[in-house]
Amino acid sequence: MPHGSEIHSLEPAGISARGARMQKTAACCCAGIAVPGEMPAPASDHERAQPLPFSRAINANLRDVRRRAKLMGLEEYNRKRDFSRTPEPSGRARSGRPGFRYVVQKHAATRLHYDFRLELEGVLKSWAVPKGPSLDPADKRLAVQTEDHPLDYGEFEGVIPEKQYGAGEVLLWDKGTWTPEDRDPLEALRKGRLHFRLDGEKLHGSWILTRTRGNEDRPAWLLL
Ligand code: MN
Repeated sequence: MPHGSEIHSLEPAGISARGARMQKTAACCCAGIAVPGEMPAPASDHERAQPLPFSRAINANLRDVRRRAKLMGLEEYNRKRDFSRTPEPSGRARSGRPGFRYVVQKHAATRLHYDFRLELEGVLKSWAVPKGPSLDPADKRLAVQTEDHPLDYGEFEGVIPEKQYGAGEVLLWDKGTWTPEDRDPLEALRKGRLHFRLDGEKLHGSWILTRTRGNEDRPAWLLL
C-alpha cells in the first residue's frame, strides 16, 4: 500500500463513492488532526460535483474540516513566521517514504519548553511539553499540540530573533526513531491515544500520547 493512501481514504476527495457514513467519519475523525495541503481543494470539488440531498449538513462538515486543516497544516507554520527574518526552515510537506524519526528540541522561548515531534505523513506532528518528556513512567507530562512542522525542522538549531514567532534559542535535545505500537498510528492519533516506542540518544522505551482536553485549535495531550 503506497504511503498516504490510508489517510486519503478518509478525506473528502477519497470518499465520494462511499456514501454518507464515510463522509461523517471524515468530518469527525479529522478533528484537530488534519493532513496539510490535501484537504481543501478536493473538498470543494467534491461539493460541486455531488449535490446530495443532505448536502447542507455535509457542506457544513467539510467547511469545518477545512477550517481545521488550515489550523493544523503547514499553512499555520508558514503564516506564523517571516522567513526573511528567522533562520527556521520554511514549511513544505514531503511525500514519499514513510519515515519514523522523532526529535525533541529544547526551546528557550518566553517560557522554556520542549518541542516533541514525531514524523508522520510527511510532516512532524508536534507538541509543546513544558516540562519535557519524563523517564519516570509514573509521570504525566502536559503536551499541548502545536502546528505541524516541516521535516527539515528536525535538523534545526539556532536562535529565532526577537519579535519573531517563538523567539529564543532552539537546541536539539534528543533525536532518534520512533516505532508505532498501534496497528494504524494515524487512526490512533485521530482517536486521541497513540502508543509508541522511542529509541533515541536520550530516550528509550514506550510512551503514550493521550488527548485529554483543550480547545479545538490547541488540543491538550498527556505524554505518559
Ligand atoms: Mn517551541
